[in-house]
Amino acid sequence: MALIAILPGDGIGPEVTAEARRVLEALDLPLAFESALVGGAAYHATGEPLPPETLELAHRADAILFGSVGDPSCDALERGLRPEQAILGLRKELTLFANLRPAKLFPGLEDASALRPEVARTIDLLIVRELNGDVYFGEKGMRTTAAGLRQGYDLMSYDEGEVARIAVAGFEAARRRGGRLCSVDKANVLETSQLWRDVVTEVAREYADVTLTHMYVDNAAMQLVRDPGQFDVIVTGNLFGDILSDQASMCVGSIGLLPSASLDDTGKGLYEPIHGSAPDIAGQGKANPCATILSAAMMLRHSLELPDAADRVEAAVARALVTHRTADLGGTCSTREMGDAVLGAL
Ligand code: ATP
Ligand code: MG
Repeated sequence: MALIAILPGDGIGPEVTAEARRVLEALDLPLAFESALVGGAAYHATGEPLPPETLELAHRADAILFGSVGDPSCDALERGLRPEQAILGLRKELTLFANLRPAKLFPGLEDASALRPEVARTIDLLIVRELNGDVYFGEKGMRTTAAGLRQGYDLMSYDEGEVARIAVAGFEAARRRGGRLCSVDKANVLETSQLWRDVVTEVAREYADVTLTHMYVDNAAMQLVRDPGQFDVIVTGNLFGDILSDQASMCVGSIGLLPSASLDDTGKGLYEPIHGSAPDIAGQGKANPCATILSAAMMLRHSLELPDAADRVEAAVARALVTHRTADLGGTCSTREMGDAVLGAL
């Protein structure tokens, strides 16, 4: 019996994780579920965004299904108490350094893409985003300059070990897919990126079967909308990966469609949609649950070694999307109706 930790979080998190759980339950697999509070929900109940009992469950579980954190009512809190610290803390505590974000156009969704249909159809890529370093985890703070001006700072840093392990994740993913890896950095300006490029190039020696290219992040942003079909696997840092994956989401129709897996080097993982808590539509039953349902499919594949079940869920989502759409895709389905459609297709 595998134990799945369900951490719904804030905003639309509880709405979308509920649908993913229903799909997992319908598969009739030996899975047990346990839920815990995280983010703003946990802060309001316990005074901490990542309470010890939530962290304990995350450690004990075989895999984690995560909704989203972010709560405007917590905006005035000091940084350490804000909901977002919960997901950063989980990524760090569990050493989830490799974030896999696949993007592919579902059949029939050409009209929802921000790109022309013939361009949208060529998208089949995977972004491998580093998740334990970069400006999110560097020294940060607020100080006063000599001129008396407030100055914010966030240190961007990577050591070669951190770059090497994400490079390996990128090459391994490329080897499993189309054999092409594009490393995205800003090596013409940033010292971290220069190191990144050097280390990725060194790791490439072990992967003669993978074709490696390098691209500056500004060019990558442009190429992603100009000719996304050129990409197979993109490996990049935490900040660049965050931005490029939101961009990729609109190329396949909606941010409500993109799942992700955050993995350590043993295969343990946290699975979450790439979107946030979407406070603007929370509690209205409007959120698209597909990204979270597809995240559950990634969990079946990567952490639970149930690839057939993962295939079934992905096929059911694809079928459901032919006839059912939530508002983000121009449809009228509620979150629950979309979940029902996936269950029906299963
Ligand atoms: P984070 O910093 O946590 O990534 P964010 O600021 O990028 O959050 P999101 O919460 O992802 O913001 O929301 C961005 C926009 O996308 C909002 O307008 C939101 O309503 C919409 N959105 C996000 N997720 C969904 C979803 N599952 N279904 C429909 N719309 C969504
Ligand atoms: Mg975002």
